[in-house]
Amino acid sequence: MMLLPFHYRVILVLIAAAPTACGLLALSRRGQERDAARMRFQLTAKGSQIDVEVGQGELAVSQDELNRWVQNAADAIVGYYGRFPVPHLRLQIEPSGGNGIRGGKTFGRGGGLIIVHVGSQTPVSELASDWMMTHEMVHLTFPSMADEHHWIEEGIATYVEPIARIQAGQMEAAEMWRDLVRDMPKGQPRSGDKGLDHTHTWGRTYWGGALYCLRADVEIRRQTQNAKGLQDALRGILDAEGDIREDWELRKALETGDRTTGTHVLTNLYEEMKDKPVEVDLDGLWKQLGVKAENGRVTLLDDAPLAGVRQAITGRSAGL
Ligand SMILES: [Zn+2]
Repeated sequence: MMLLPFHYRVILVLIAAAPTACGLLALSRRGQERDAARMRFQLTAKGSQIDVEVGQGELAVSQDELNRWVQNAADAIVGYYGRFPVPHLRLQIEPSGGNGIRGGKTFGRGGGLIIVHVGSQTPVSELASDWMMTHEMVHLTFPSMADEHHWIEEGIATYVEPIARIQAGQMEAAEMWRDLVRDMPKGQPRSGDKGLDHTHTWGRTYWGGALYCLRADVEIRRQTQNAKGLQDALRGILDAEGDIREDWELRKALETGDRTTGTHVLTNLYEEMKDKPVEVDLDGLWKQLGVKAENGRVTLLDDAPLAGVRQAITGRSAGL
């Protein structure tokens, strides 16, 4: 999740990737950040190590409460992917003004780095319902892409985050479907938009990417009689060492995922959506899945044609 405009991220990534003068600059800045840490603690996630540094500044929450927040997100990731994606993650929590989790960034450098800003007045209840830490950790699970494919990185993080939290018992499925009915239309192409590889607005990047993921999940499950889903494809990519530390071609990732599910869904959907603005029949899709939304409330219908697919998306797939 970036509250910052997209071009700012690109600049940050370029600086992080530059090998010489900029690299030295980044290193000396990191030294200063280390010196400025006022609290450090460590936790583990299925054998991986997470080193947390909390920067200078006031926070309304305790170290134990921060620890629980990070551990919950890490546990949700381990549940969805079967393991934590990198052996050693550095996580910087930077106190800032105000209330709430105020933006995060994830990098592959140094084996994995997440920086999250937390408002000084943020109460522990906001940590318990937070989605951003899990979203940032999902970024660790997929290889780094060229800029025109940024939509797949944000789309996967946006789509997988609530599912991982539901599977970990941290969120209700109905809450996610309510949010998807509200938010998925933001991913539809607007007038003048092109395909996902060409239009890089916020809506098309985050929700256009999530729409690709939802369509892929439903189609893989339909074609395999619910034996496989997007979760299997994403595990297959991670198991092939496709994590954030690696630069991959998008096609390599999609083909790796398709091999895991025995389908061509990821590749075919990419061909369909990469260049052309594809309007998805969301109302038809919700009806098929048995998601009925009225006045901001959602009812899940178990007699809908694809109700089993809907249940499998947030349940733990057989064999996982
Ligand atoms: Zn993100």
